[in-house]
Amino acid sequence: MRLILLGPPGCGKGTQSQRLTEKYGIPQLSTGDMLRAAVKAQTPVGLKAGGLMARGELVPDDVVVAIVADRIEQPDAKNGFILDGFPRTVPQAEALDRMLKDKDMRLDAVIELKVDEGILHQRIAKRVAEMQARGEAIRADDTPETLEKRVHAYRLQTAPLVSYYSNHDLLRATDGMASIPEVSAEIDRLLGKGKTAVAAAAAVPRKKAAARKPARRPGAARKAKAAKAAKAKRARRKGAAKATGRRAAAKRRPARKTRRKAINKAGRRG
Ligand code: AMP
Repeated sequence: MRLILLGPPGCGKGTQSQRLTEKYGIPQLSTGDMLRAAVKAQTPVGLKAGGLMARGELVPDDVVVAIVADRIEQPDAKNGFILDGFPRTVPQAEALDRMLKDKDMRLDAVIELKVDEGILHQRIAKRVAEMQARGEAIRADDTPETLEKRVHAYRLQTAPLVSYYSNHDLLRATDGMASIPEVSAEIDRLLGKGKTAVAAAAAVPRKKAAARKPARRPGAARKAKAAKAAKAKRARRKGAAKATGRRAAAKRRPARKTRRKAINKAGRRG
């Protein structure tokens, strides 16, 4: 299973990704987490990304694409993954398409968590409070001002992915305003619904599928044969009726009412 969770900051992507990770036994690939780790470790990528992240701006496409390309090569991602926070721009989505195509892999679905922007501030405030309660360090970009910028970046650069994946027939939208268990149940339902078609497509390697003959409708040949036999039977009957003159005789035979009248008349006469 290869999934993307799409939605603005604070929509619940992280929470749902973690649950899906447990359910399907596939890793959650959060570019935000990977970049934060790089910043912490002060790697060249981290040094490049740190300032941009703190300002709520996106890290350049080539940097993030390289990180993801490297990550999906890891053995734990062989059977699938959940992308959380990637892709965030159309060029990133196109790069992902190329990456997967090269590996003869495909995405199964893109889950969009739809939320009212008004609630994002409350959610981030809640996340900050929870992190503080656990004694964890607060994210540098979880401030009201930076959140505003991140939401703006989402609207401008990431929201176009909704139509991108809708055009690719991969988008499944869900109401991210519902409670966590409700959103989880809806995601399960959406994945279950798409599974048959997705699994069927995945079961047939693409090249073989293209070479296959178009499927015949079940029973079409049998129906055509039965119709032909019925037609032949009707023709035989018609021929036999003609030969015996039965039809002509039937035509000449007066109707029942007329015959009775004639009998009565004859009786009266007799
Ligand atoms: P997140 O944890 O997903 O909210 O990401 C935190 C920050 O990391 C974002 O505001 C961006 O600065 C950066 N970031 C994460 N993922 C990407 C991405 N796919 N493209 C560009 N920047 C990203």
